[in-house]
Formats: sequence, C-alpha cells, structure tokens
Amino acid sequence: MKETAIYIHIPFCDHKCIYCDFYSIVSYENVSSYLIALKKEINFFAEKYSAERKIISIFFGGGTPSFMEPEYIAEIILHLKKNFIVDDNAEITLETNPGTVNREKLLAFRKIGINRISIGIQSFDEDELKFLTRIHDSETAIKTVYDAADSGFDNISIDLIFNLPKQTKEIWRSNLKQAIQLPIKHISTYSLILEHGTILNKMVLDGKVKMQSEDYDADLYELTIDFLTQNGFDQYEVSNFARNGKECIHNNAYWHYKDYISFGTSAHSFVNGKRWWNYSALNFYNSAVESKRNAVVGEEVLSENEMLDEYVMLALRSKGLDLMELNNLFGGNWFEQNKNFLNQLEEENFLTSKNNLLSFTPKGYAICDEILIKLES
Ligand code: SF4
Repeated sequence: MKETAIYIHIPFCDHKCIYCDFYSIVSYENVSSYLIALKKEINFFAEKYSAERKIISIFFGGGTPSFMEPEYIAEIILHLKKNFIVDDNAEITLETNPGTVNREKLLAFRKIGINRISIGIQSFDEDELKFLTRIHDSETAIKTVYDAADSGFDNISIDLIFNLPKQTKEIWRSNLKQAIQLPIKHISTYSLILEHGTILNKMVLDGKVKMQSEDYDADLYELTIDFLTQNGFDQYEVSNFARNGKECIHNNAYWHYKDYISFGTSAHSFVNGKRWWNYSALNFYNSAVESKRNAVVGEEVLSENEMLDEYVMLALRSKGLDLMELNNLFGGNWFEQNKNFLNQLEEENFLTSKNNLLSFTPKGYAICDEILIKLES
C-alpha cells in the first residue's frame, strides 16, 4: 500500500487579510455547491488512484476551514472514507482561526474525527494583530488554544509570523515566550513575505509601510531557532518545530516526497512523479468539475533530473539527505559532483554529515535557499 496524503482546500474567509495571497473568497454564497463539486472531484480521483493506497493524513486548509459547520467537514471526511482506504490512525488536521470557533464547535470538530488543530494565531501582540488585519485579539487566541485542549485535542499547532514592520526582537521574543507556555505540540514560524497583488504590497509601494531588512530577518530567524530548541521544541524543517515527536505527518508527506492528492480550488497534487493543479477561481473550478469531473488546469511530468533536484531540496530542508537512500532511488554521482562544495559547507558549519546523513545546522537553515541553488544535479 502506497502511503498518500490528502489535502482539501476550503477557500472561504471572513475577510481578506492585508498580506494574504492565498486564494480565498469573502462570501458564503457558494458553500453548498462547493461541497457537491468537491465530492464529484473526490469520486473522479478515487476511481483512478484509490487502489493500493493508504491515506495517512487529511488536511483541511484554506481559507478558513473552521468557518464551516462541523457537519460540512464531517460530510467530506465520510466521503473520503467511502472512496479511499483511510488509515485508522490517519492524522486529520483542521486549520482554525481564533474568532471563528468556541468550545462547543471545537468539541464537535473533535467528535467528527479531527485529531489535530492548526491555529492561525500569527502574533500575540495587539498592534501586530491589528496591522495584519486579523479578526482576533491576543486573549481570543490564547482562549482558542485552551478551548481546543479542553475539547480533547492533544495535538495542537500554532502559526506565528515574524519580521513584521517595526517588530523589535523583544516583541518577537515575547511572542515566542507566550507560545511555549501554551498546551501546544507544534509551532510553525514564517517570515512575513511581501507577495505581489496584496494590500500590503501596495502599502509598501505607496511608502506607507517599510519592510525590515533581510539581515534583520535572518537575526530573528536565528533567535527563533535558538529560543524554541532551548525550550523543548525540535526543529524538523526550516519553519517547523515539534515537541515530543509530534511532527506533522501531512507536512512530512510533502517533504519526504510521498504522493499527495488535493481537492478544491487552487489545489496542487503530486502522484507517481506527475504534478497537476486546479483552477483557482471558484466559478471556473465549479464549472470544470461539472463538465469533466475534475478541475485540472495544468500538469507536468517531472524529468529524472527535476525529481532528483526536488528530492535533494526537500530532504535537506527537513529530515536531512540520506546518501544511501538517494543512491538507491536515483543512482548516479550526485555526491561526487557536489563533494567539494559539501565539504566546504561542512567546514564552515553550515552542514553536518553523520552516518551518510547530510543535515543543515541552524546556520545552514538560515541561508538554505542560497545553498540549494548552488547544488548541481
Ligand atoms: S484568514 Fe488566512 S486565508 Fe483568509 S485572508 Fe486571512 S490569511 Fe488569507
């Protein structure tokens, strides 16, 4: 049985945050028709790919999946279970925004089989939350974590954003301090990225907001790694930290090069070396599914070299690159080709090498994109 992850995109949101470039819709008009389309799309791909596959994770991302009623999410889970072999211990995650759930709703989500909650807190600082135009305040964020724990979730993750304009090291450190006091097992930290087409991008272009420098960003990132690893969280990917081995099974599926099938607007899938992606706009998605039972708008089959590059990149960004495994999968002489550069990285403490496993050090993680570009396939 091939281990496979499933992603479901729920595009609906209460409003548009200034920095967000995810596909999201501020309207609930099409919630019912979207569910019908999702089910059709699930049927289509289950007919093609359900055999000999075991689903190890289901991830509801968005948008704001926690805006949906638990019955809505339950119907999708049930439909997936009817059409795929879902492992009894599958990790089932719901992205949740503070301000969209109370204890009763979280209990209902737990009852329908959600066993992991990923809470989009982003900051505990009131000014930062206002700047990001989030709908919650710090008190609501903290309450949501405790409500989730009281509702039976023992696998809680939170997202935080650093390097906001005007964010001092003290503010960021106090965000991290607050985070580690909560009953959580996982933290994802992301640097604020200026994406084209966002309101924030326009504010920067108009001179209303000034972003911080890349050097300062690197300082905050280093601070993050030091702080979290000294406080019981292991770094298992560039942006992800887990307590007690509670690494995200779903994210690991992406990083460990497993197959994943995704449903909904703008969803990307990867199966047997082939990648495809869906229409982003809801009306295009709905009519495509109506007429051809899927909403694929583009696809690519990766060449051997592209697969090798991706494999190396994903492994180095997460669990480390196992040279034996690399050789078994791709053969060839990748190591020989890159030997001098790898030795240099090791000498300069960007990389460690132990039992054929190459791993980034915290210093290496900080500039991993620069390093990865220089590796030859
Ligand atoms: S809630 Fe999340 S998905 Fe929705 S607009 Fe804000 S950042 Fe984007």
